[in-house]
Amino acid sequence: MKRRQFVTAMAAAAGVSACAQDNDAGSSGVTAASQQTFEWNLVTSWPPNLPGLGVGIQNMADRIGKASNGRLKIKVYAGGELVPALEVLDAVSRGTVQMGHDSAYYHRGKVPAAQYFTTVPFGQTVHEINAWLYYGGGLELWRELYEPFNVIPFVAGNTGVQMAGWFNKEINSVEDLKGLKMRIPGVGGEVMQRAGATQITVPASEIFTALQTGAIDAAEWVGPYNDIALGLHKAARYYYYPGWHEPGPMLQLTINIDAWNSLPEDLQEIVRSVCQAINLDMMADYTWGNAVALQELKKDPNVELRRLPDDVLRLLRQYSREAIDKMSAGNDFAARIQASFDAFQSMAIPYHEITELAYLNARSL
Ligand code: CA
Repeated sequence: MKRRQFVTAMAAAAGVSACAQDNDAGSSGVTAASQQTFEWNLVTSWPPNLPGLGVGIQNMADRIGKASNGRLKIKVYAGGELVPALEVLDAVSRGTVQMGHDSAYYHRGKVPAAQYFTTVPFGQTVHEINAWLYYGGGLELWRELYEPFNVIPFVAGNTGVQMAGWFNKEINSVEDLKGLKMRIPGVGGEVMQRAGATQITVPASEIFTALQTGAIDAAEWVGPYNDIALGLHKAARYYYYPGWHEPGPMLQLTINIDAWNSLPEDLQEIVRSVCQAINLDMMADYTWGNAVALQELKKDPNVELRRLPDDVLRLLRQYSREAIDKMSAGNDFAARIQASFDAFQSMAIPYHEITELAYLNARSL
């Protein structure tokens, strides 16, 4: 065994020096691991070619293919093509596929604390959540949370602050929330229930029909860019903001741990780095696409853009705190995540009050 390790070490050393001496990729220095190719499947929750989410994850697969010189080929499937749209994490966990792209909070029935790894109502913005994940210990907590499912998570995209949603009736007071049937996943949905509404979860592909037929009265999806793509502006009149329930929702790339461990270190680093690149790229795509799409919506005579009244927002904030505390009660790990998340948010708020917020306010004076 020792002799084999020694021989391997010598071969690796020879590989390094051979590469240093000439740049011919076909030189004898190429090791077996660096020649192995992988063909992986990636399932998503998204409709085919959906702007932002769908296009962004295809872009990620293409970039990993190019960066690895074809050694890691990833085929992307839309929601429902290979596995049902809301069962992406299960497919990755079982090893049916190697990779998945969806929202962590779709799985909060099984893992309540997964909510933190999409967004929490009145929680962190995209800048804040990235800081918490990359520098505040968030990513480590997330990996620990998913370890029992044999899955390793990465952040791969964010939509920025969303919209409160499309409504077929006006929301002028907290009374108007009562009896409302709304598509709104996650803790946001539970908050709406506390306010007297009925929460419904349907995948993106079914929202338009549900809203148009009156099966539901309201629906949140993302923001102008994605909502126009689903045609939601043709199914409801009132478009409310701000997206109190999803202030900086991130998307997760999940990888089956056995598949991840089978990758050589350089391919692992390519996946890690391209994920970070996509996290930035998707946010830029959303900011651009949303600004353009909002212009279009403002010209549409059948759409009314409205801000939720302050008393409605105040009540939703109070219920949000209660729903989040309930989520962590009696669950030590969720409480640990909440403590870490809240500790950073309480530092980020005073900082952002005198920077982002103060500047945005100054710009509108
Ligand atoms: Ca949403």
